Amino acid sequence: MTEEKMLKVEKIRRGTVIDHIPVGRAFKVLKILKISSDPGVTVSIAIHVKSKKMGLKDVVKIEDRILDSSELNKIALIADGATITIVEDYGVIKKFVVKLPDIITGILKCSNLKCVSNMEGSIIPSFTLISKEPLTIKCHYCEREMETEEIVENIL
Ligand SMILES: [Zn+2]
Repeated sequence: MTEEKMLKVEKIRRGTVIDHIPVGRAFKVLKILKISSDPGVTVSIAIHVKSKKMGLKDVVKIEDRILDSSELNKIALIADGATITIVEDYGVIKKFVVKLPDIITGILKCSNLKCVSNMEGSIIPSFTLISKEPLTIKCHYCEREMETEEIVENIL
């Protein structure tokens, strides 16, 4: 049996599996999705899973939650290339890879409190991707650069 098959989503009736998360980032994924403190959501986490493609990876399974596109964009921020599997009635209904876009809009706020995007309610925060490793993005309005920790803290 291959490694991929062993990690199959057999035990989930309905929900979302996030596979190929860069090792060490499973908890950041949960934080970004704001479900680590929600007792109504059942989550399984596998960390330091051996992967042919990545060496080591993390995997997160969320029961009874189908992630929306905004949540998937948030995941792409810290787990670019992660594989998302949507499960309904024990079957895979959708499987795809999340990609970090060059322009990131509306999913996090600028860490600069004086940035116009924080002062004016009508302005949607927007960032340009500067670098993937280490992850660095730049605010479209004030040019503040933000890295992983700051990005996670400022997710909307
Ligand atoms: Zn800004």
